[in-house]
Amino acid sequence: MSLIEIRDLTKVYRMGEVEVHALNGVSLDIDRGEWVAIMGPSGSGKSTMMHIVGCLDIPTSGSYVLDGVDVSQMVESQLAAVRNHKIGFVFQAYNLLARTSAIKQVMLPMQYSRDGFRIPRAERRERAEAALEMVELADRMDHRPSELSGGERQRVAIARALVTDPGILMADEPTGNLDSKSGIEVMEVFHRLHEERGITVVMVTHDEAIGANAQRTIRLFDGRIEQVDRNGERTKVRSQESSSGISTRLTSDLGLGTSDRGGGHDADAAG
Ligand code: ADP
Ligand code: MG
Repeated sequence: MSLIEIRDLTKVYRMGEVEVHALNGVSLDIDRGEWVAIMGPSGSGKSTMMHIVGCLDIPTSGSYVLDGVDVSQMVESQLAAVRNHKIGFVFQAYNLLARTSAIKQVMLPMQYSRDGFRIPRAERRERAEAALEMVELADRMDHRPSELSGGERQRVAIARALVTDPGILMADEPTGNLDSKSGIEVMEVFHRLHEERGITVVMVTHDEAIGANAQRTIRLFDGRIEQVDRNGERTKVRSQESSSGISTRLTSDLGLGTSDRGGGHDADAAG
């Protein structure tokens, strides 16, 4: 049984008289510990797919079994419980609180989760520190977002997504606001989580070089899966390198350096 089992998924948005068919019968299995990229042109249904897979929304029809449980008909409170237990989210625009230090941002999910409030504050702090160490921000714990680079902000967001120890990491354009070097750093963190923790990664991107980090690339077109690529050897690039040597190697091997779009928060060129 796969961790994620999706069958004939459709999503229709109704806007007054108009119906938008965002997904038109998508079937997909994702195994535990797999790293999958979802790619496709703007409007092809990537975000819709991510929202359903991430239990942020439900499909119009079709089934979605997550970890053995059918989540396709759940109401919001049930979906929220599934999200809290199983899924960490990373978004293009980081979604950090402007005036809050990195360590406090990362402690927040434990405060708000149902089991989290039972964790003593000292332990919440310890866990948040460990998560920030995991993303190599041990020396930035007391910095606010304005005192961090784009790549560092995104790594705070990753630490926040991981602090509750979810099995799945979902990322919608995680490098979309980053220059290529910061994008590589973020991918390096994903590689580490994937290899060392066995986390399942589902990542939406429009950037081929970023997508090539995944083991499998699902290509959407008009709400359908058009093509599936196995990325084979290229995912092994990192494991041959020490983490200090990774940047150059990834840049040359994966052709990174095409996504230099500055650090604006509102950029959503991928749609
Ligand atoms: P992508 O992320 O690949 O750019 P989306 O999943 O965001 O694509 O959108 C797929 C289609 O569904 C697009 O035509 C978009 O305009 C439409 N759509 C997305 N979200 C909504 C919504 N909340 N209401 C109405 N239409 C939507
Ligand atoms: Mg999108």
